[in-house]
Amino acid sequence: MKPEISIEFFPPQTPEGVDKLRTVRSELAKLHPSFFSVTFGAGGSTRERTFSVVKEIAAEGHDAAPHLSCIGSTRDSIRDILADYQAAGIRRIVALRGDLPSGMAETGEFRYANELIEFIRAETGDWFSLEVAAYPEWHPQARSPKDDLEAFARKVKAGANSAITQYFYNADAYFHFVDEAKALGVDVPIVPGIMPIVGFTKLARFSDACGADIPRWMRKKFESFGDESYSIRAFGLDVVTELCERLLKGGAPGLHFYSMNQSVLTTEICRRLAG
Ligand code: FAD
Repeated sequence: MKPEISIEFFPPQTPEGVDKLRTVRSELAKLHPSFFSVTFGAGGSTRERTFSVVKEIAAEGHDAAPHLSCIGSTRDSIRDILADYQAAGIRRIVALRGDLPSGMAETGEFRYANELIEFIRAETGDWFSLEVAAYPEWHPQARSPKDDLEAFARKVKAGANSAITQYFYNADAYFHFVDEAKALGVDVPIVPGIMPIVGFTKLARFSDACGADIPRWMRKKFESFGDESYSIRAFGLDVVTELCERLLKGGAPGLHFYSMNQSVLTTEICRRLAG
């Protein structure tokens, strides 16, 4: 099984982090991803760092996709960013609402991601291929699953070409979401987001915040390992590889890896999938 994959990074904060990411990238490039994406801090907090990593990736000959979140931004600032990306030859953007950083009161001129998609299409036509976020276990702020699904369909209708999901460990949630989206007329690929498991405590905290469920049987098992990082890693690799296999067998169009700027786990999962 050799799936089509894409791989996500965050922009490092230090020169050492930038150097390390270069090494990580050269390892992950061996997996021939269709693109590398780079996250963007809401309100523009990582604007320069995101752009700098994206330019490096493109200069290395890879397809680079900056994320762009609109909350807390003005139309003018987004227009400037789009112009920079066009000038740099970037052809793909992961377009998001983002979350307002704590302490930032101004929501800016965009309320939801569909407004950003409409704006990008109005400003730049078909220049960019646009990816949007999808939530098989529902976005934590959604009023209801139905509302969330409709909001997702609205983003696609506004001009998205493809979607990447929040990570999840429950394949049924993904298949159910895809079926429901199709029933609403969504016909773009919905690529599952895959979070390899490095450790449990941080993952549990982060999952609670972003609304990703870690099933009880997995939680209990991770908790039973305590600080045994080897066991956590081995079990995490087995569980995530099985999840990927199930998703691909069930028709998922590819996999998007949240690499957390590390190469080892993503590489190992892909090696197992290919083997
Ligand atoms: P939206 O699609 O706008 O949805 C946000 C919420 O509003 C949902 O609950 C939805 O149901 C609701 N909603 C939508 N439209 C309406 C409406 N008209 N009326 C009422 N409610 C509505 N964050 C970052 O800051 N930077 C990143 O780089 C980043 N990358 C990500 C990549 C992926 C693949 C994913 C899945 C998430 C990423 N995030 C990132 C997190 C994302 O920004 C947050 O999950 C954010 O809270 C929602 O963004 P969205 O684009 O999904 O928002």
